Amino acid sequence: MPEGVSWNGSIAFLDRDGVINIGSENYINNPDEVELLPNSPKSIGTIRRMGYRVCVVTNQSPIGRGLWTSKNLAEIHERLQQMVLEEDSDAHFDLVLHSPYAPWEGAWARKPFPGMLEAGRQLIDKASIDPNLPDFELLYGDDWLDRPDDSNSFMVGDRQVDIIAASRYGIKSYQCKPEEGISGVLEEIL
Ligand SMILES: [Mg+2]
Repeated sequence: MPEGVSWNGSIAFLDRDGVINIGSENYINNPDEVELLPNSPKSIGTIRRMGYRVCVVTNQSPIGRGLWTSKNLAEIHERLQQMVLEEDSDAHFDLVLHSPYAPWEGAWARKPFPGMLEAGRQLIDKASIDPNLPDFELLYGDDWLDRPDDSNSFMVGDRQVDIIAASRYGIKSYQCKPEEGISGVLEEIL
């Protein structure tokens, strides 16, 4: 967490393309294609300085379609994090989750389903108790009964699938314009 700030127990779930960086119909295929949306680093830094942890949740079907690998995606996310931190040193991603599945697979972990949000909550909770992240079983949907209080958590996305995933998970959401990204809804969030 930023200096002098302790975690408030809530999570800001952020979609990636159209929220943090500029999206593309042809996907973001390598680190050189990453272009930040104006003020997204400052917005993420602000949210973390308010005490939230940040979990990026992004659908990445090019992996499931066989176009490229999760290693390539890891390099893209490394570049994205580096560019964001250059503008705001508090704007760490606490966790980045991606769904590799193709749309026709109907995966629970692909938005508009809430699997990534469910996993993110449990991973961040466990890691906050033990940073070494002991082995444990992730629970999904009706199998996850003992849920923590997420009444102050929220999701930011530019598309309807993000809003539906948030609603299925049971948290509020803010829909930003893809050309503005998260900074366009920051005032609403605050
Ligand atoms: Mg998006």
